[in-house]
Amino acid sequence: MKYETVVGLEVHAELATRSKMFCSCAVVDSIQAEPNSAVCPVCAGMPGMLPVVNRQAVEYGIRVGLALECQINPTSIFARKNYFYPDLPKGYQISQYEYPLAQLGRLVISSPEGEKTIRIRRVHLEEDTGKLTHVEKEGQNYSLVDLNRAGVPLLEIVSEPDLHTLEDVRAYATGLRSILRILGVNSGDMEKGVIRFEANVSVRPAGSTELNKRVEIKNLNSFRFMERALAYEIERQTKVYEVGGQVDQETVGWNEAEGRTYSQRSKEDAHDYRYFPEPDLPPLVVDQAWVDRVAAGLPELPRAMAGRFQAQYGVNPATAALFVEDRAYAVYFEQAVQAGPEIAPTLIANWMTGELFGWLNQSGAAFHQVKVSAFDLVELLRMVDQGAINLSTAKIVFAEMLANGQSAAVITAARGLTQISDSGAIAGLVRQVLESNPRETANFMAGKATLSHWFFGQVMKAARGQANPQMLRTELERQLKALKI
Ligand code: ADP
Ligand code: MG
Ligand code: ZN
Repeated sequence: MKYETVVGLEVHAELATRSKMFCSCAVVDSIQAEPNSAVCPVCAGMPGMLPVVNRQAVEYGIRVGLALECQINPTSIFARKNYFYPDLPKGYQISQYEYPLAQLGRLVISSPEGEKTIRIRRVHLEEDTGKLTHVEKEGQNYSLVDLNRAGVPLLEIVSEPDLHTLEDVRAYATGLRSILRILGVNSGDMEKGVIRFEANVSVRPAGSTELNKRVEIKNLNSFRFMERALAYEIERQTKVYEVGGQVDQETVGWNEAEGRTYSQRSKEDAHDYRYFPEPDLPPLVVDQAWVDRVAAGLPELPRAMAGRFQAQYGVNPATAALFVEDRAYAVYFEQAVQAGPEIAPTLIANWMTGELFGWLNQSGAAFHQVKVSAFDLVELLRMVDQGAINLSTAKIVFAEMLANGQSAAVITAARGLTQISDSGAIAGLVRQVLESNPRETANFMAGKATLSHWFFGQVMKAARGQANPQMLRTELERQLKALKI
């Protein structure tokens, strides 16, 4: 029997606000800031504290809701989700439950089988927990609690179980990340944990429309871990069904080192959390005027932008999809196109995907660290266009530009790489080669026409590869013809 994969994702995205969700503590860098340096009685969960909603976080939530074509609810309700964890001092997390900020949206993804619409179930606001660090040293074993992250605004985006392949999952997750970045609500820096996934997965006989028991994989913070964890679970569950067994509904973690999931607990039901409306916060009211204002300020979204890049600049779909993954790529590309109107946009795109991204992959550098601006790249391509350097020299020059940030003009001048386009100099080189090779010259005159290629190579060598090839060819033909007369 063939089986089909069914996946629904819960995505937690930290919102890049200046202050926390319910207090005025700053949102600080999770790695650089001194532990517990941005904490107050509210986010530390002291008795008697009173939360106040961060308006900017709500606005960011509306932005995301609209970008995902959700309905924005005029009234949503904050609720307490009760559970115990050492990094959750209050003993509950303020979240939204029955009445989320936004719901019933969709995200269109491209998959190898064409475009697919993934339904968004809900988008709601909540707060992050603190961070635990487990220490084992000198026979001691303890945990450190850092509350800097406690109370940081989180947006939870929950999909319907509409994803059926690992490619779908990747396209959905990267598509969502592009949207969050382009909206400016999240940096997309996965290494910093600003986007985290929970993947719900089940398998069922192909063709069935029923949902089987699912396993929820918690705390996945990279695309690669998520894919590996899902691949593992899909295989495991398929094997269970193949021998007539039953999959238990449970919550699991992913052990990357061992390459397997491990059971954390049997899946809790909503009633285990004893959700109830947060008594310290009034209902969240979002009026239509606010929604309209946010809608009017939305930037061009990744899918629309990718379509425009194809139509306007003729770039292929894969390249267009790549450029809109990160707003910085798209901005770079369009800056270059505008700076060099005489240069084909597809040529600029090829240099970006080939030379530039190739270098990024190799060096491991981040895009924002690239020292070559869009204008610098165009200057280089213009030098090729105008015949000042040839293509192979340009690639060498570009590598140096990336390494030390100097401009193409400076590098070519300093290294004497400028293409020889001086007709007198080229004529001199040709003459010199013909004169110093009397035997080949004689053979050519005797009728061995193919020697012209050999002469071409010799002159190019004498010019250290820098002669303008067109001019060289014309001049060589002229002098060879003159020999015959
Ligand atoms: P909870 O909030 O308790 O985790 P939900 O029922 O709200 O559970 O679903 C959470 C996620 O699980 C959603 O993204 C949903 O699409 C997905 N999901 C629900 N049922 C299944 C299933 N049988 N297989 C795969 N994913 C599922
Ligand atoms: Mg869940
Ligand atoms: Zn605080």
